[in-house]
Amino acid sequence: MHEEVFMLTDDEIEKYLKAGDIVHDTLNLALDVVKEGVSLLEIAEKLENNIVSKGGQPAFPVNISINEIAAHYSPAVNDTKIIPSKSIIKVDVGAHVDGYIADAAITISFSPDFDNLLVAAREALRNAESYIHPGKSLGSIGEVIEKVIRRYGFIPISNLNGHKIERYNLHAGKSVPNVSMYTFRKVTRDEVYAIEPFATNGEGFVIERENGHICQIMTMRRVKESKELNMFLKGLWRDFRSLPFAERWVYKKYGKRGLEDLERLISLKRVYRYNALVDRGAGLVSQFEDTMIVRENKVIVTTRVLELF
Ligand code: MN
Ligand code: MN
Repeated sequence: MHEEVFMLTDDEIEKYLKAGDIVHDTLNLALDVVKEGVSLLEIAEKLENNIVSKGGQPAFPVNISINEIAAHYSPAVNDTKIIPSKSIIKVDVGAHVDGYIADAAITISFSPDFDNLLVAAREALRNAESYIHPGKSLGSIGEVIEKVIRRYGFIPISNLNGHKIERYNLHAGKSVPNVSMYTFRKVTRDEVYAIEPFATNGEGFVIERENGHICQIMTMRRVKESKELNMFLKGLWRDFRSLPFAERWVYKKYGKRGLEDLERLISLKRVYRYNALVDRGAGLVSQFEDTMIVRENKVIVTTRVLELF
């Protein structure tokens, strides 16, 4: 199979690095603001405001996933949830600069009981970062991740993956598995990847649960029934293109009417809404994630989450 070879320009790399710095700084802030009893809404808004104040745009809503929730939960408009005591929290943050994305996540635990679970995902990420290199197969990265997580006595989540990133495209085709699998697809130089090991003491397979309050445009196919709804869809495209966005952001800009129009676009299948993903065995879940630029002779980790610990 032929893979097109291309090279990133200095300008593109600079924007990827800036986005990475912003996400790093925002996750550092998360270590201060994520505390037992604090509202998820307050945390998400502080972190998203930090992205903007540092010169980026959120690449997706801040995800705050509690205990057995692995991913894809962002607070609703008027969300009343707080960080529970003795919980394990995944904070996943994305920022972009002119479409050049950084995507990274950390786990924060409020009980020493979860320390090993947290460390399993973190060390899996560390090992994967040392291993990734042009020419390595994507499946062999999964093997590295799985081995580390199992060595700690936990199970990697097999149906959540890392992913290649391209401009304005968070999941650009190639996936990086969290388990060993045979694949002939390889990492090529000048690709950008997010690697995100998830570890659990449950089943290692996630299923959908409640509304995650995160949306994404699926198609810009015209809405014949309503000129207004069509205009609204075009407005969403101008703001978010194909990147995920929060119900909260729609409410902030368009009010209650915007949320109603959003529901109509969801039922007309122009917009997709994510559900929170939970471990099927109701296990607790940890996650660490970094974004990296794979250059010919070195890997540049743009988000540097391992430096936060
Ligand atoms: Mn992420
Ligand atoms: Mn990701």
